[in-house]
Amino acid sequence: MEKVNTSNKSISMNTLINTMSIFETLYDVIRVVNPVKKQLLDLKLNKINELESSCYNLWRMGKVCSNCVSARAYNEKETFVKIEYTGKKVYMITAIPVEIDGLPVVLELLKDITKSGVIENIENKDSDTIRHAVNHINELIVLDPLTQIFNKRFIYERLPADIINSLLNNKPLSLIMADIDFFKKVNDIYGHVAGDEVLKVVASILSGSVRKDVDWTARYGGEEFIICLKNASEDTAVKIAEKMRKAIENTIINYEDSSIKVTASFGVKTLFQENLNEEDLIKEVDKKLYEAKNSGRNKVIA
Ligand code: GH3
Ligand code: MG
Ligand code: MG
Repeated sequence: MEKVNTSNKSISMNTLINTMSIFETLYDVIRVVNPVKKQLLDLKLNKINELESSCYNLWRMGKVCSNCVSARAYNEKETFVKIEYTGKKVYMITAIPVEIDGLPVVLELLKDITKSGVIENIENKDSDTIRHAVNHINELIVLDPLTQIFNKRFIYERLPADIINSLLNNKPLSLIMADIDFFKKVNDIYGHVAGDEVLKVVASILSGSVRKDVDWTARYGGEEFIICLKNASEDTAVKIAEKMRKAIENTIINYEDSSIKVTASFGVKTLFQENLNEEDLIKEVDKKLYEAKNSGRNKVIA
């Protein structure tokens, strides 16, 4: 099937409004969103107005989607699809990146697919079961299969929104980057499968040390992790990183006949009223991690 890619040409507001009126006969809801702020946009009166409502409020009041297709469409300049459940209906959401007079936004087309069979036997399932099934399908694309924490794609989809929200709400945002010390040796001594077990245990220590549903933990690469803490000062973030560091140091990982111990180094960077983009923020926290490595490892540096 041919890939749809509308992002490389800018269209006028009128063209978009005309296109939307064609889609109106095919879709149940059509909307335009700001993929970074997650805000609905109104195109009436030939100008773009930001509406009060967030795009995710249709299915999860107050909670940003883990699987944000509008951020993905925007980042990857391709069309993406997902499903969501409102508690009554299942929708398929198609997110198309477009540029209106040079401004990048995302066009979302929603189709009611409750009766399509995408969730098998839906009429006999309770709403919690349906929600669980939909969330599971959605999270597969942003979860690391080995550790079951978020993957790198998630970091680049979520972090820009977290940075903007911390600026708008005048709250600090802290990032922790963790890297297992001498992990290559673990693989060399105990084997790659044992190394995988270590990664799983370390990931669960990290994700278990933060608030579920508020903060998030992701695997950035091989044995590197990023943890994002909302409304956390540098002091708080350092304390949490220190708690993680100690927990890893004190954990014995049993794999077959081996008892494995590892340590990890941590960098911490806190943003407060500072407008860094996600790439620069990651660079900054990576510098701190590098300092922790260079000053002896098994340390937290802010
Ligand atoms: P440092 O203390 O400087 O971080 O040393 P290190 O050995 O941890 O760092 P280095 O970057 O030299 O090695 C990282 C190792 O992580 C090399 C690679 O084989 C291993 N690794 C990356 N991904 C995986 C994985 O998914 N499973 C396993 N078992 N090992 C992995
Ligand atoms: Mg590394
Ligand atoms: Mg390492």
